[in-house]
Amino acid sequence: MRLPEHAARAIAQLEAAGFETWAVGGCVRDSLRGAEPHDWDLCTAARPAQMQTVFAGERVLETGLRHGTLTLLTDGGPLEITTFRADGGYSDGRHPDGVRFVGRIEDDLARRDFTVGAMAWHPERGLCDPFGGRDDLQNGLLRAVGDPDARFQEDALRILRAVRFASKLGFTVEPETAAAMRRQVARLDCIAAERVREELTGMLCGRFVQRALMEFADVIGYVLPELTPMFGCNQQNPHHRYDVWEHSVRATGQVPAEPVLRWSMLLHDCGKPACKTVDEKGIGHFYGHPAVSRELAEGILTRLRFSNEDSARILLLVEQHDRPFGDTDKLLRRRLSRIGEARFRDLLAIKKGDVVGQGTHPGDIAWLYDMEQRLNRVLAEDACLSLRQLAVDGNDMGALGLSGPAVGEMLQALLDAVIDEQTDNTREALLACARARMEERHDE
Ligand code: ATP
Ligand code: MG
Repeated sequence: MRLPEHAARAIAQLEAAGFETWAVGGCVRDSLRGAEPHDWDLCTAARPAQMQTVFAGERVLETGLRHGTLTLLTDGGPLEITTFRADGGYSDGRHPDGVRFVGRIEDDLARRDFTVGAMAWHPERGLCDPFGGRDDLQNGLLRAVGDPDARFQEDALRILRAVRFASKLGFTVEPETAAAMRRQVARLDCIAAERVREELTGMLCGRFVQRALMEFADVIGYVLPELTPMFGCNQQNPHHRYDVWEHSVRATGQVPAEPVLRWSMLLHDCGKPACKTVDEKGIGHFYGHPAVSRELAEGILTRLRFSNEDSARILLLVEQHDRPFGDTDKLLRRRLSRIGEARFRDLLAIKKGDVVGQGTHPGDIAWLYDMEQRLNRVLAEDACLSLRQLAVDGNDMGALGLSGPAVGEMLQALLDAVIDEQTDNTREALLACARARMEERHDE
């Protein structure tokens, strides 16, 4: 294991001043399993004021001094440095009542949630591993430090952290730990929506998301109760090999690990159970499910306080996931003009995940590649797809005598006419087209 230069230097500086210091947590876990840590955290016997003295003159952020944390900005990246501490009680099940600074690294490691994240490392002293984290890492096991029920009672967010780590690392949750997660799941009620959202998003973006979602469907269903009707909902349809839940899970694992895509895929069919009908041949149908999925998804996204932007992107994909693109370039341009290139490409990814997740004809995605080719061709043509590209603007409409909302409506109608190849995109042709429409309106 090798420390990056900036972390080694900070450890050396603190130790030169007499304060024992270690690399700790996720960076130790990731280095030991041969992955590149995304950041390095240190913990130290120095109190915050003592750290400030050691790093006087350097760039320091007082991130959480009361909790003993300070961020040192170095050329190698930010370093989070925290005083050895034990957490006080957790009477509200989410925030420690207070922190107590402690003298020994082992006492600091004991407050951490999982053994694989409760190890520290030092360039000379080597590994400090009082809870068997290294063995668990080798065996791919996620195990709570100490009594699992007590740990989840202290901070229920750890239940979702476990699912996130299972999804990210592909680890098995040790059975006692998994049983305690289930016993304590109702404590998630007191966790702030934003924190639930962040853990779920991290979980959804993990490499092993399918396994984690299948194994912990009940835990996910506790925080997203709208999804529980999907569990075991048989589709009774030759196009589908799996129930609605497993189909959605498999589809989620198929799309790129980007939060909006993963969330959209998870939610795209959540309205299916409510829409299910079975015809006389015994075939299941789900007419109108995208709109119902959208409605349920909107409730979830609002409750979890998603940004308006992410929410709009997800809802668009959920609502349109089943809508055909149409066979003609005209229809493609129309859709493209409505939703833009980026959303169009998202939609292609969603449709691909959906088809592959059906599990019946995995080879049947050639048409999606064709669609992508057509999209690229249409984009290369530099066709007129937005109001900005029209050869007339609002002033021209004003000169024709239009005002208020009629201006925007006319411009949109002209754009549709250009896309549908009913008129050229020239000033003359568009003005003529607008006049004709106004006369029509007049005659009505
Ligand atoms: P990641 O790769 O996701 O950053 P990580 O293990 O570094 O994984 P962080 O959330 O960055 O996770 O937390 C850093 C360390 O702090 C963890 O390894 C763990 O030891 C400890 N920790 C973080 N959150 C909690 C918590 N809610 N309860 C107990 N320990 C925690
Ligand atoms: Mg981390």
